[in-house]
Amino acid sequence: TFHKSKGQHILKNPLLVDTIVQKAGIKSTDVILEIGPGTGNLTKKLLEAGKMVIAVELDSRMVLELQRRFQGTPYSNRLKVIQGDVLKTDLPYFDICVANIPYQISSPLTFKLLFHQPAFRCAIIMFQKEFAMRLVAQPGDKFYCRLSVNTQLYARVSHLLKVGKNNFRPPPKVDSSVVRIEPRKPRPQVNSKEWDGFIRICFIRKNKTLGSIFRLKHVLSLLEKNYKTLQALQSSQNGSLGNTDMGMDISSLGDSKEDQIMEMDDRSDDEMEAEDGDDDGDAEGEVSEFKDKVLGVLKEGQFEEKRASKLSQQEFLYLLSLFNKAGLHFS
Ligand code: SAM
Repeated sequence: TFHKSKGQHILKNPLLVDTIVQKAGIKSTDVILEIGPGTGNLTKKLLEAGKMVIAVELDSRMVLELQRRFQGTPYSNRLKVIQGDVLKTDLPYFDICVANIPYQISSPLTFKLLFHQPAFRCAIIMFQKEFAMRLVAQPGDKFYCRLSVNTQLYARVSHLLKVGKNNFRPPPKVDSSVVRIEPRKPRPQVNSKEWDGFIRICFIRKNKTLGSIFRLKHVLSLLEKNYKTLQALQSSQNGSLGNTDMGMDISSLGDSKEDQIMEMDDRSDDEMEAEDGDDDGDAEGEVSEFKDKVLGVLKEGQFEEKRASKLSQQEFLYLLSLFNKAGLHFS
């Protein structure tokens, strides 16, 4: 019996398993990380292709079954099984990751891998199709969103293979896609908290212009609060805050349900204005002075009329650097 809650859908099509292994480009010297080996259909082919397989499996019954399957075979001393939740496991060194994962851990797992050090060569992972489309989406594509931007900051991502439900037992409710993730080397040196705060704001409404987003009262007041905090810090310390990575909860880069709703752009502009207020008529001189500062940055880079849904990685990085140069920060 299989546990639905653990996302147990076993790959039953041997040709598909072969295709995945072949597309992975495994070398005979590779240490391979497999996540959720289940009964070991993929594991067996990985053992044939590489030097060593380290498999992390949550379900103790599956761990036993896996060990039984390879016991007494020439593979047994090249397979290491770690029982546990991959999200809570310290991952060992590996060259390549190949996995048919439980879809409920897609987002945290992706970011765990992207932050893994030292960086691996590539990861070949089966995801729910919709998640895969968002991972690989490019500026202007329908599914381009925070997840696309955040993933592609750290990796090159490409779609390899569509996989129908009937390749699994029991069949899941959704279609799947195999994706290749190659970490960028060197890793981009951005403060990930700052980046996350910035991207969240740009994608509040991905089809609105940045000019209108950065006029929103709550966006301006957040920026102003950060600005004042930093100024106070700097004058008291008489030093600058380095642009170092202060460590973050990497799960925040992913996609919670809440964010998905936030990105739907399903409310009319009128509703938005009513909710966020429009402080064009604000009499407070200080507020509009700060607002001018923020909008000045957008103008400088000609971003006022642009929309997050169409901006490339480079453009986001450039705009963030302009904000930072003006002393404006997002974390
Ligand atoms: N790799 C096998 C295959 O392709 O036939 C099974 C894949 S099945 C979709 C996912 C596997 O991941 C299951 O064996 C499940 O027990 C395991 N699993 C679920 N959650 C996990 C977690 N948090 N950490 C590690 N393994 C997990």
